[in-house]
This record gives sequence, C-alpha cells and structure tokens, in this order.
Amino acid sequence: MITHHPGEDLLALYAAGSLDEANSLAIVTHLTLCPACRAVCDDFEALGGALMDENSADTLKPDALAGTLGMIREARSEVTAISVPQRSAAPTAGASILPLPLQYYVGGDLAVARWRTLGPGIHHMPLITDGAATARLLRIAPGRSVFEHSHAGNEITIVLRGSYSAGGEEFRRGDLEMADGSVSHRPIAGSEDICVCLAVTDAPLRFGNWIGRLMQPFIGI
Ligand SMILES: [Zn+2]
Repeated sequence: MITHHPGEDLLALYAAGSLDEANSLAIVTHLTLCPACRAVCDDFEALGGALMDENSADTLKPDALAGTLGMIREARSEVTAISVPQRSAAPTAGASILPLPLQYYVGGDLAVARWRTLGPGIHHMPLITDGAATARLLRIAPGRSVFEHSHAGNEITIVLRGSYSAGGEEFRRGDLEMADGSVSHRPIAGSEDICVCLAVTDAPLRFGNWIGRLMQPFIGI
C-alpha cells in the first residue's frame, strides 16, 4: 500500500517532459509501482495533447487547465495509458526489486550494483549526474541511520526495498518522500531488512516550457 506520492505539479512536469533526466527517473520509478499516479499522468498527457491541438500555449487563460482537465476526467475511458511498465507494488517471486527503468541504469538487478561506501552500513551507487541533479541508489543496513541533513535544493527519495522512518513517518516500497531546504531529517532504516532507495537531489525545477508556466499558478494547491 503506497501512502506517499508526488504532487500533481511534479507529475504534470513529468508528463510534459519538463524534468531533467534524474528527476524523470525518480517519477517513472514511482509510476511503475503506483497505479494511482499513473492515472493522474494519463490525465496530464491527454491534457497536453488536447491543448496542443486546440490552442497556442501563449494565448491560454489560467482556467483552461481546470476546464480541460475536468473534461478529460469525464472521458477517462478514452484516455491513452502512459507508456511505462505496468507493475504491481509487490515484487513477484524471483522478480527484480528494481523497476525496469532503474535496471537500465544499474545494468541489471541489485546483484550487479557497484556499491561504494558512504559510511558505516551505508553504501551508494551514483546513476546520473546531470548538471546539478544527481540520482543514486542508497543501501542502508537494518536499523542504521543516515546522518541528519537538510537540502540546498529538492530531494526525492523512493523506497525500493525495506523501509525507513523520518519525521515521524514510515516509508515503504513505492513510497516517495519530497524534501526541500526547509526539511532537516535523519532517516532510519527499518530493523527487518536492508533499505534500498533511489535518491535524487537537484537544483530548482525548471519551468522552461509552456506547461510549466501554465502550471505555476496551480502549484501549492
Ligand atoms: Zn503515487
């Protein structure tokens, strides 16, 4: 049961292709495990197509988004599914715990991951360094805590195996935690298993194209 999800603003940016590679990997990793967020992305992809068909982005009014999104939700049966691998949150016996997009970056399953030591009981494997944005796998021994830290930019963490707790909340497979510069936390891995996460840190999100600018008034709702 996934209980922590990305905001709709982030899903819209992903659907519009506005995120950098590292943040896109974070979102697609969550989408492969979360049917609810895949459905939201379906809406945004259809929204983008509908707006592109009917309007010039520069002439859109702010309420165009809400109106079009409402129409799309009514016509959900006609929405084309986003082309990400469809997988349940629980890995089947013998299956990789890594969603397919992550296997591409790792070069296979966890067994082939090339871990580097970060500290006692903590390892990482950098996957993407794209300007200021980086994506890495983290492996934390059972019960071990990561040093307390805050963030210069945004940090997205998605649990792939085991669990961790931070800020009084527990995060399990598929859960996505967002943290920004206002958050100082000290994640602690669950005692039952190692905890493997995908962690992405970045510079501020880019709003370089039409859907990003369109969405900005709605962000934070
Ligand atoms: Zn979700």
